[in-house]
Amino acid sequence: MAGLEDLYREIILDHYRTPRNRGELDAPAVSAEGHNPLCGDEIRIFVDVRDGIVTDVRFNGSGCSISQSSASMMTSAIKGKPVDQVKAIVKKFKSMMTVDEDESPVDESLNLGDLEALQGVVKFPVRIKCATLGWNTLLDALTTAGQ
Ligand code: ZN
Repeated sequence: MAGLEDLYREIILDHYRTPRNRGELDAPAVSAEGHNPLCGDEIRIFVDVRDGIVTDVRFNGSGCSISQSSASMMTSAIKGKPVDQVKAIVKKFKSMMTVDEDESPVDESLNLGDLEALQGVVKFPVRIKCATLGWNTLLDALTTAGQ
């Protein structure tokens, strides 16, 4: 029987091989770019925010399986959600990755679903930046969108 770590590895590989929401968005969507020089990961995130809702999100870029699958999982988790909720998901994810830097409380009721597959990355501190690259880039894109 497959253990939890095997299941998690399978989820990460599935998103790496078959990325969700990969591509670009035209204006009025905005984009931001992120780099992780430690690993060579590059991510560009496109977001379309209308009436406070992330109506569409895409990503492209290249890099290791953790950076690309994390970005793919992120787009699946936030698409169609209100910006407030998206920011709460980002905060909870960064908290799971032990890099949540502000003091406000994490919404414990939020279910991260497949994103929990990435929690094992915490055991490899050098890879945490791979897992959080897309998320920090998303925050930059939201800022660019005036959110
Ligand atoms: Zn990486």
